[in-house]
Amino acid sequence: MTGVAVLGATGTIGVNTLDVVRRHPNLYQIIVLTAHSQFERMAKQCEEFNPAYAVMVDEQSADKLETILKTKGLNTKVLHGSQALQDVVQLAEVDVVMAAIVGAAGLQSTLAAAKAGKKILLANKESLVMSGKLFMDQVRDYNAELLPIDSEHNAIFQCMPTDYARGLDKIGVSKILLTGSGGPFRELPMSEFAKVTPEQAVAHPNWSMGKKISVDSATMMNKGLELIEACWLFDTNINKINIVLHPQSIVHSMVEYVDGSILAQLGQPDMRTPIAHALAWPNRIESGVSMLDLVAMPNLEFVEPDMQRYPCLRLAREAMQTGGTATTILNAANEVAVQAFLDKKLNFTDISKTVEYVLEQIASRPADSIETVVDEDERARIVADEFIEINTMKAGAVH
Ligand code: NDP
Ligand code: MG
Repeated sequence: MTGVAVLGATGTIGVNTLDVVRRHPNLYQIIVLTAHSQFERMAKQCEEFNPAYAVMVDEQSADKLETILKTKGLNTKVLHGSQALQDVVQLAEVDVVMAAIVGAAGLQSTLAAAKAGKKILLANKESLVMSGKLFMDQVRDYNAELLPIDSEHNAIFQCMPTDYARGLDKIGVSKILLTGSGGPFRELPMSEFAKVTPEQAVAHPNWSMGKKISVDSATMMNKGLELIEACWLFDTNINKINIVLHPQSIVHSMVEYVDGSILAQLGQPDMRTPIAHALAWPNRIESGVSMLDLVAMPNLEFVEPDMQRYPCLRLAREAMQTGGTATTILNAANEVAVQAFLDKKLNFTDISKTVEYVLEQIASRPADSIETVVDEDERARIVADEFIEINTMKAGAVH
């Protein structure tokens, strides 16, 4: 039995992970489930999977969960606070950690899993964007295993030989072709961008995801974060990665080789495929995802992204080229701006403006310690908040 900890169990990735685990009760045992505050959903998950530990970061939610579990006679131990996230990933019974907390809140627990030498299934791309070098160093130094859950990176991983860490040049890779759907506003006239509402932005045409990543997909900051993620995961230069728009989300990414071959991974846009792949790797298990019907499939299109339409892509590329804490700053400013947009304090087009402003205000420093990364993350959030406040005063009410 493989012991599994699911960080962010109540989110989209967490729920999909539990769905795959549910199909294989003889292979996987849930040891830990964590969430921020959705205690009712967590109670139901505890009832079904009977984990040894449940962590609610929010203390009051932990109390409520504990009460429910007691009345149901469950012996799951309830913990609270973010330190508890770091503690539970180190448990000896935990073999695999699904890192599926959204945003910077997932950083410390993911790093702790690396330090504990666990097999990490990485959905929380923000941790790599914030601290790529430190994170990859810890994975190597503590002999952890890192498997990408992000569908594109999982596809790239599947299209590479297992010894890709030798170096992409050595294995004959000439390019990574990172695909993206272009989000819900790929064809919307740019003059209408400022009026886009959060409800429209979170309605992704192909994927069903949490709110933050859905907004990131609409601005294509998600693809920018994924570009950075791919550089770290596959130890490559940004110039070796091309972003290709593929509105049907059937090809999940491709790898081009020097001999003229392009290898692609195809499948339904359903996260249970990469989750099942990473959980079972190097084996394969059933995921619950239906097969593609190649004959009934729509025509597959591939087009170049319009950089004017997606300024966040340019900002992410520039931040990676700058290096150091620039990507930490990019990520923090984006998280603050996306939340402000969801709270209707900011227009859609102001998300990229906030990120650009914060990157201009704070100079990049070497990201040589976790303390520096955390400090720069906090600093960027303060500057982003200031920009949003000034912007709100100037603009009056939004929407
Ligand atoms: P959701 O918003 O659906 O879920 C987020 C999870 O994180 C929830 O369990 C939530 O708990 C928990 N959480 C939120 N804030 C905190 C906090 N401060 N401390 C601890 N836990 C917290 O997100 P997704 O599942 O969509 O995404 C999770 C990660 O996976 C993101 O990094 C995203 O980029 C990545 N990803 C997602 C994909 C998708 O298809 N959804 C695809 C590829 C990557 P609660 O429910 O209690 O609030
Ligand atoms: Mg993705």
